[in-house]
Amino acid sequence: MLSNKIEKRESVISGIGLFAKEDITKGELVWWPTSDTIDKIHVDRLNELSEEKRKHWIKNAYQMGVYLYLDTDDATYMNHSCDPNVINSDDESLLIARRDIVKDEEITWNYLPYMNQYLVFQCSCSSKNCIGVVKKGTMTKMI
Ligand SMILES: [Zn+2]
Repeated sequence: MLSNKIEKRESVISGIGLFAKEDITKGELVWWPTSDTIDKIHVDRLNELSEEKRKHWIKNAYQMGVYLYLDTDDATYMNHSCDPNVINSDDESLLIARRDIVKDEEITWNYLPYMNQYLVFQCSCSSKNCIGVVKKGTMTKMI
């Protein structure tokens, strides 16, 4: 479930993104899982889905081990950045602010550690350490 300080808006990174409605402090909780906001499927079952659903999963799902996870709430609109302002908590179950986030700033997450094996896209985050083509196995550039 997303923090109530976040809302959907048009994004210059890609389509619709998530934005801070007010300042968010470093370390503050941004998203946490609830049973009704995550769908899960084994990667081997992806081919059992309809073409349309499969494309949706490939575009939006993140992967941990042999499972793909799909946020069914607005968290699915969180865009990738190579210099994100949101990171996973130490146990990986929560998303927290990596730094102070100011009102109207886009909320971004680095997809790379959890990239599903089927997705490849050209990044348009405009950060100094942007890696360009984003796909599983690419290393994040340190700045
Ligand atoms: Zn980038």
